[in-house]
Amino acid sequence: ASRMQAIDADQTIEAYRAAMNDVLAAQKKAFLDEAPVSVKSRISRLDRTLAILVDHQNELCAAMAQDFDSRPVLMSKFTDIASAVKALKFAKKHLRYWMQPEKRGLEFPLGLLGASGRIAYQPKGVVGVISPWNFPVNLTFAPLAGILAAGNRVMIKPSELTPATSALMEQLFSEYFDGEEISVITGGADVGQAFSSLAFDHLLFTGSTAVGRHVMRAAADNLVPVTLELGGKSPVIVSKSADLDQMAERVLTGKLMNAGQICLAPDYLLVPQDRMAACVEALEKAAARLYPHMDRHPDYTAIINSRHHSRLQAHIKDAQEKGARLSVCGSDGQQKPDDQPNTTMPLYILSGVDDQMTVMRDELFGPILPLVGYQSIDEAIAYINAHDRPLGLYYFGQNQAEERHVIARTTSGGVTVNDVLWHVAHEDLPFGGIGPSGMGSYHGVEGFKSFSHARTIYRQTGFNITKLIGALPPYGQALAKT
Ligand code: NAD
Repeated sequence: ASRMQAIDADQTIEAYRAAMNDVLAAQKKAFLDEAPVSVKSRISRLDRTLAILVDHQNELCAAMAQDFDSRPVLMSKFTDIASAVKALKFAKKHLRYWMQPEKRGLEFPLGLLGASGRIAYQPKGVVGVISPWNFPVNLTFAPLAGILAAGNRVMIKPSELTPATSALMEQLFSEYFDGEEISVITGGADVGQAFSSLAFDHLLFTGSTAVGRHVMRAAADNLVPVTLELGGKSPVIVSKSADLDQMAERVLTGKLMNAGQICLAPDYLLVPQDRMAACVEALEKAAARLYPHMDRHPDYTAIINSRHHSRLQAHIKDAQEKGARLSVCGSDGQQKPDDQPNTTMPLYILSGVDDQMTVMRDELFGPILPLVGYQSIDEAIAYINAHDRPLGLYYFGQNQAEERHVIARTTSGGVTVNDVLWHVAHEDLPFGGIGPSGMGSYHGVEGFKSFSHARTIYRQTGFNITKLIGALPPYGQALAKT
């Protein structure tokens, strides 16, 4: 860890790689020396992680506000601090139960009579964690619940787009942990690239699908198992049976939290063609109620930087040029003077969109909400199935047969019915994507299992079973009968 601290920002990437390898080697050695990792040691690490969050929540929220230029402290306490605290406490409460070896005896093969078998959950060793900028604290701390409960050591590479938060996390982890237990390495994409090629025992990556591909390729060289928490376009199906006002309020509460910069944000709506106008109206009304204005609104977050702001503006320009109808909510329409860059962005509702427009191709990750019309529910289902498997899928409606039909005919990481996002908040449910939205999952016991090795332990009896079943050469006819 000391070697890591000696690295200056202007050092070459090779120096970084060498220093990171030193930390990894030290962590691996400490892990082997410690075995078995006691409950006490796991609880101590969870407690210290909790202490960082609880004792330094104000500094962490201030750092996030600084990195985003404006981000409501109350929201940060909810999305980044409280949710991670909940995950860590849940793991602390249940880890003894999770650690119990599992007996398997559903059908013990007759020929192995007298022997015993069980599964023992063993820590994998050193887990690498690469985290993104959108919930920089949550997506660094919440995975530690399963990782530390499972008894691992950790190296973390947070995002360079939230420099104040990442630097603070680096400082706080080094105050509460020995570098051989948890070590934070800050840096950009080049450091991330070098980091993802290290010979970890497991690598968790949270970020974009495009970078996820690079990370998995880099991990493949060392056959490092990966958990990938990626993004994508999570659809909302608005049923003919939906209460539009309720739908609009719930969709926008989720969409506008963190200004749409959420992996699970409702990306676009599938709306019955004959309810399109009513749907736009319900959304406009709900937006005006929730955020009468969005410029420096105390509950509204800015777009992370001007590059992302320009990316979002380009989507709007493209959709407008190709004939989409635009409704802007929460803005007085005044241009901001150029010398006062302000990256807050109002909500853009787009109707009359099609797949030729970039808004329907890329994950939006901002306050743009396109509406796609459908005639029959099967047409909406076919639209979803013709695109990448999403991280989340949302259905609003009171028609339970239709709800079952939608869930049975589609695939996504998770589903929330009559709301958006909330399945992620249930700590006892696995969270993860499928296909381009990710692989593997964490939260609760699934987190513990993702970061553990399920080791089969078989104990032979005093009998010579090989002889009993005829597997002892020379083979006789008995072997054919087993
Ligand atoms: P990103 O993929 O650009 O960056 C994520 C992290 O990877 C950063 O720490 C970055 O430095 C690092 N990185 C960049 N290039 C790298 C490379 N070549 N090799 C290794 N690491 C590299 O993602 P982002 O912009 O920070 O986050 C937004 C994306 O993350 C969105 O697509 C969003 O949907 C997704 N996301 C997913 C989840 C989830 O839980 N599934 C949660 C939040 C965000």
